[in-house]
Amino acid sequence: MKEEKLGLYKKLGIKLTPQRLAILEYLENNREHPSAEDIYNALKDRFPSMSFATVYNTLEILIEKGLIKELGIDSHKRRYDPEISLHHHFLCKRCGKILDIESKYDIFIPEKLKDCQVLDFQIVFYGFCPNCK
Ligand SMILES: [Zn+2]
Ligand SMILES: [Zn+2]
Repeated sequence: MKEEKLGLYKKLGIKLTPQRLAILEYLENNREHPSAEDIYNALKDRFPSMSFATVYNTLEILIEKGLIKELGIDSHKRRYDPEISLHHHFLCKRCGKILDIESKYDIFIPEKLKDCQVLDFQIVFYGFCPNCK
């Protein structure tokens, strides 16, 4: 992991245990939108003493610090996205694959929200991926 990244985590007050470092490395440039289970399963052989709670707590801290986003689009499990810039998603209803959609969409803020401050929006396409359709 790059020095500058490590510096950022330290600056944000994230304690870097070997397990946390492994979780951060797993998430870096990961476009699979893994669930907490996916991360746990990928790392448990390397860290047999690591608990599921460690993974979950680390994810919570990363969300709180704005380093990852939590995706609520998969009704089966929460998924996590280390790409925090604005983008949209496609969810395969059969295999659960989530694809990033980088296209820009112009949307109109509904009249109903005129007194609200809208910070973010996300478009989700649902369907079947090429392998599943
Ligand atoms: Zn699929
Ligand atoms: Zn994404």
